[in-house]
Amino acid sequence: MPSTSSTPRKAAIQTIAGRAALKPLHPNASENGTAPAKPTSDYFGINTFGWRQMRSKLPKDVYATLLQSVRHGKKLDSEIAPTVAQVIKEWAITRGVTHFTHWFQPMTGLTAEKHDAFLSFDDHGQPVETFSGSQLIQSEPDASSFPSGGLRATWEARGYTAWNPASPVFIVESGGARTLCIPSVFIGYNGEALDEMTPLLRSSDILSEKAIALLELLGDSGIIRVHTTLGPEQEYFLIDRNHFALRPDLVMGGRTLVGAPPPRGQQLEDHYFGGIPERIQACISEVETELYKLGVPIVTRHNEVAPCQFEMAPNFEETDIAVDHNQLVMATLRKVALRHGLQAVLHEKPFAGINGSGKHCNWSMAITSDNALDGTNLLKPGKTPHQNIRFLIFLAAVLKGVHKHAGLLRAGIGTSGNEHRLGANEAPPAIISVFMGEMLTRLIENIAAGKEAGKGAEQQLIKLGVAKLPEIEKDNTDRNRTSPFAFTGNKFEFRAVGSSQSIAFPITLLHAAVAEAIGELTDQLRETLKRTKNVNDAVMKVVREAFKETAAVRFEGNNYAQEWVDDAKKRGLLNLRRTPEALAQLTTKNARTVLTKLDILTKAEIDSRYHVKLERYVKDMLIELHTLAQMVDTMILPACYSYHGLLADASAKAKTAGISVVPQVAAANEVGTLIEQLRERRGALGVAIEKAEHEHENVDACAKLLTSEGADAMGAVRETCDSLELAVGDEFWPLPKYREILFPV
Ligand code: ADP
Ligand code: MG
Repeated sequence: MPSTSSTPRKAAIQTIAGRAALKPLHPNASENGTAPAKPTSDYFGINTFGWRQMRSKLPKDVYATLLQSVRHGKKLDSEIAPTVAQVIKEWAITRGVTHFTHWFQPMTGLTAEKHDAFLSFDDHGQPVETFSGSQLIQSEPDASSFPSGGLRATWEARGYTAWNPASPVFIVESGGARTLCIPSVFIGYNGEALDEMTPLLRSSDILSEKAIALLELLGDSGIIRVHTTLGPEQEYFLIDRNHFALRPDLVMGGRTLVGAPPPRGQQLEDHYFGGIPERIQACISEVETELYKLGVPIVTRHNEVAPCQFEMAPNFEETDIAVDHNQLVMATLRKVALRHGLQAVLHEKPFAGINGSGKHCNWSMAITSDNALDGTNLLKPGKTPHQNIRFLIFLAAVLKGVHKHAGLLRAGIGTSGNEHRLGANEAPPAIISVFMGEMLTRLIENIAAGKEAGKGAEQQLIKLGVAKLPEIEKDNTDRNRTSPFAFTGNKFEFRAVGSSQSIAFPITLLHAAVAEAIGELTDQLRETLKRTKNVNDAVMKVVREAFKETAAVRFEGNNYAQEWVDDAKKRGLLNLRRTPEALAQLTTKNARTVLTKLDILTKAEIDSRYHVKLERYVKDMLIELHTLAQMVDTMILPACYSYHGLLADASAKAKTAGISVVPQVAAANEVGTLIEQLRERRGALGVAIEKAEHEHENVDACAKLLTSEGADAMGAVRETCDSLELAVGDEFWPLPKYREILFPV
C-alpha cells in the first residue's frame, strides 16, 4: 500500500500549499510587487508600432499614404515600404529587438512564426543591422508542414506571408529575447488562402462594398469603408500547474476524460463575480500588463460561474485587429500562467458537470467616412427616423443572413471541444437562433404584420415606435443569456463561439452571410424604389418582407429547454449536435454559393477547410481515445487492483483469524464488479479505436465512427471510472480529483 505522502496527488497538494511568494507584476512595480508607480496609459502600447508612433516617426507623406491604404483596405504601397521598414527597424532596435518574423495564422487555430535576425554583413564583412522594405512586406516560409486540406497539391509546397498593415507590428518579449512580429496573411503560390486571416480580410472587403452600396441607396454619401467591430470576451480556467501535469488527459487534449463530480461544484453560485483569489489576481495582472504593452485594450476581468473559471474582455476594435489581439490574449494567458505555477486551460469543456468556456463575440458594423457619419455604428438606433430606417435595414440584413446561413455559422464553431459545450445545460445550444429583446421583437412583429400599411412612412414609424428605438440600447434588462446569437442594444453577441478557437473563421462566415443579405436587400430596395419614391416607405416594405421571412430564426425563450428543441424542429431549424454533421454544412450548395459568389473562398479553399477541420476532429478524438485507454491501463486499473488486493488480503487475514464478520469481502466484490465492468468497457474502447483507425483513408467514415461509437465508448469508460473513483481508497487514486483541482487549498 502506498504511503499517504508518496501518492503524486498528495505530493502535488503539498507543493501548492508551500508555493513561494510571487514576482512583482508591473514593469516598474516596487520589489515587493505592490502598486505600480506608473499609470497604465504610460506604457500602453510601448511594444507596438501603432498609429501614434507611425505618425510621430514616419515622414508626413509616407504616413498619409500608409493611412490611406489602411482606411481604404488596400495593400501597402511598395514605394513607401523601404522607409516604413527603416523606421520600424530603428524603433525596434532601440527596444532591444534582435529578430523579426512574419506572424501569421495557419489553419491550426494558432499562430506561427519563424524568426530571422536583423543581422547581416556589409561589403567589409562588418556586422550591421538590416531590415528591407521587402522583408517587411513579404516572406517565404517553408510551408510544407502546415495543414492545407488538399490545397498543397496545387501550390507546390510554397507559401508566402504578407504584412497586413492594418494590424500594427509588435514586439514579443519571451525568455529575455525580443522579437518584432509582423501580422501577416499566409497564401499559396497561386494566391490560395492557407490561413485564417486572408478569408477574413476578403469577407470584410465584400461586406464593406455591399454595405456602402446600400448606404448610398439610402442617401448617405462620403462613405469610405464600412468596417466591422469586434469585442471578444474570453473565458478560461486557471488551475494549478502541478494538478495539470498529473493529468494526462489535460496535458494531451485539454479536458478531463474522467473525474467524478465533487460534492460541491458551482451550485452555491459563490464564485461568479466573487473576489478574485490573490494568486489568480497576481497572474491576471501580469497578463494584463503584458497585453497593455502590446496595445491590447483589456478592460474587464471577473470570476466566471464555474470554480477556477475567469473572463477577460477588451474594448472592441476593428475585427481583424481584434482577431490578432485575441490570439495574443490566449498566448499571453498560457505563457504568463506558467510563471505563477498555474496553467491556463482554454478548452471549451475541461470539466464535466460545471460550466464550459466560450468566447462571446460582440459584433457590429461601423462607418468610416470623411464626414459626420464617421464612426456611426450601424446597429445602434439613432435619434431621427432616417437613422432608425438605416438601423432597421441593417438589422434585417443580419437576421436574413443568420436565418439563411445558420448551418454555415454552426459549421464555423464546429470543433471537438465545442461539441461538449453546445447543447449542454449552460451553453448556447447547437441550434442557431437570434434573440432580439422584448421591445425590438414587438416592433419587428408589428412591422411584419403589416400594421399601418398604406400610411406614410413617417407616420408608420411614429406609430410603430421606431422613434423610441434609442431606448433599446439602454435596455439591458431583458438580456437572454441562453441565446447563441443575441442582440444587446447596439451590437450582436455571437455567444456560441468556442473559447479556444480562432475567431477568424466564424466571423468570416458571419460576414459572408450578412454581406449576401445586404446585397439582396439592396437589390430589393432598388426594385421597390422604382415604384415607391419615398425611401423610408420603400425601406419599410423591404424590411417587412425580411422580418416575415426570418420569423423562424427569432426566439426569445429559454434556449436550454427541451421545448425549444422540439419547437425548433417544427420551425425547420437545424439542430446539429455533432461536429461532423456541423462541418458538413460547409459542403452544401448554399455554403458554396455564398462563399464563392462573394469571392471569400474558392471551391478548393472551402474543401480544404472542410478537410482540415474534419481531420482535426478525427485527430482530437483519437488523441482522447488513446489517452483514455492509456490512463485506464496504466493508472486507473492498477490503482483499482491495489485497492482490491488490499481488501482481499484483509478478508483472507480476517478469515484466518476466525473473524466472522468480514465486510471487506462484500466491498471487494463490489469493487471487483466495477473493475470487471471497466475491463469490459475498456475492451470496447479498444475495438472502437481499431474500427475508426481502420477507416483512416476515409476521413468522413472515420469521423462518423468516432462521433458515434468512439464517443459512446469513452462515455461508458468514464462512467465506470467515475464510480470507481468514488469507491477506491483516496490515497490509491492516481489522478488529482475535481475536488482538489477546482478547490485549491
Ligand atoms: P457585457 O454586459 O456583455 O459585458 P458590454 O457592453 O460591457 O457588455 O460589452 C461587452 C463587449 O462588447 C466589450 O468587449 C465591448 O467592447 C464590446 N462592444 C461594445 N460595443 C461594441 C460594438 N459596437 N461592436 C463590437 N463590440 C462592442
Ligand atoms: Mg457580454
